[in-house]
Amino acid sequence: MLKLVLFISLIQLSSAGDWDVVSKFAGSMNQYFYLSNGRLQTVANEITIRKKRLSQYLGSGNATYNYSTNDLLMNPDIFDNGEVKPFPTLVSELGFTGALGVAKTVYHEMGHAEWDVLIEESETNRDQEFYKLITTKIKPWMEKNLTKVDDKWLALMEWHGYYYGTVISSVLSDWQMTLLLNGVKTDFSFDENLIRSNIRSKKITVEDFGKISHKPLMKNLQDTLEDTYGERCRSFSVDVSNGMYDGMVSLETGSWEDKGFQSEWWDAIWEHMRFNYSIPSSRDDLIYSINSSETDLMEKLAILQHKIWDELQLQESEKNNQEQDSDTDQDFENEEDLDSDKSSNDDEPSFGDF
Ligand SMILES: [Zn+2]
Repeated sequence: MLKLVLFISLIQLSSAGDWDVVSKFAGSMNQYFYLSNGRLQTVANEITIRKKRLSQYLGSGNATYNYSTNDLLMNPDIFDNGEVKPFPTLVSELGFTGALGVAKTVYHEMGHAEWDVLIEESETNRDQEFYKLITTKIKPWMEKNLTKVDDKWLALMEWHGYYYGTVISSVLSDWQMTLLLNGVKTDFSFDENLIRSNIRSKKITVEDFGKISHKPLMKNLQDTLEDTYGERCRSFSVDVSNGMYDGMVSLETGSWEDKGFQSEWWDAIWEHMRFNYSIPSSRDDLIYSINSSETDLMEKLAILQHKIWDELQLQESEKNNQEQDSDTDQDFENEEDLDSDKSSNDDEPSFGDF
């Protein structure tokens, strides 16, 4: 028996490579947000991904990547049967914001692992080029400017990890906001009142039916519609902690450019990530991907929009008839209050299949 246990342990030790652990989660990120998984798979197969034990869980943040053992430890709550839960399951358990937080953490930590097993090893020409930029330009900049941080490598790796988290969170937030403002909840049920109100106010016209449109977005979101995530994700705070119990040192933000952090360095990290994970380039590109995806969601949306449009047309013609019948008695009491509908985003939506 002891021999058998030993044998199984040896197999486990020798079979590092945990794509299976994250493949369902990654598959859902592809399905809903169009991210590609090849790079994630390569990284996951070079490391081990496990649940944190209770003491580790209490001792530090949600997740940690160990550069010397290649172990990625994550919060036990996000595992089901040894696998990281797919995004819809996380949404149903934690709400969209909670699930977004998990996705952000997974990409942050996988970014550390990617740095360790691919970028530092100059796995591809792009990795080699990016790594050269890091060592010859960005590290010297950090040495000059981040006087409070002792470990410049840690600062570099956290800059990279936080960048990943920031981009992922921007894409997911845009997705949620754009769908919600079009009357599609994150469980892919519909907010009929909002759809009605969008049609009434002509934010959605007949030509838009069956599509997710940018028109219901607020002005400030319209203004950044075509800005790339590369342009939008240049300001974020980076906490550098040196081990489990050390204090956090924040890399000052907002002053990156003031201190001479070059625009092309931001371009380089953006291009590297965008290429390896097929990140939609902008909110506009994301909307294009949603509308091009082969699901019956858009068809259902179009049917509902046409139904509501027909109802509104009917109401309008009935109202006109009533006005003609009673144009002498000046009775306005029955006039329908067209603005009485309110959008009903009251509870955190759950997340369903397309
Ligand atoms: Zn980190």
